[in-house]
Amino acid sequence: MKMKMHKCNLCNVYTLKDNCPDCGGSLNVIYPPKYSIDDKYGKYRRKLKEEAKEQAKRTN
Ligand SMILES: [Zn+2]
Repeated sequence: MKMKMHKCNLCNVYTLKDNCPDCGGSLNVIYPPKYSIDDKYGKYRRKLKEEAKEQAKRTN
C-alpha cells in the first residue's frame, strides 16, 4: 500500500486525504526526508559554513 502524506500550509494540518479536512484547500505532498527541501538547503548551509570557516582562517 502506497501512503502519501499531505500537509495544509494554511491550517498546519497533516492528512492522508487529497484535500484539507479543515479548509478543503489543496495540500503539499510530504516527501521522504532525503528528498525534502530542508535536506537540500542543509547541504547548501554546510557549504556556506565551510566557506565562512575558510574566510575566518584567512582573516585571523
Ligand atoms: Zn487547510
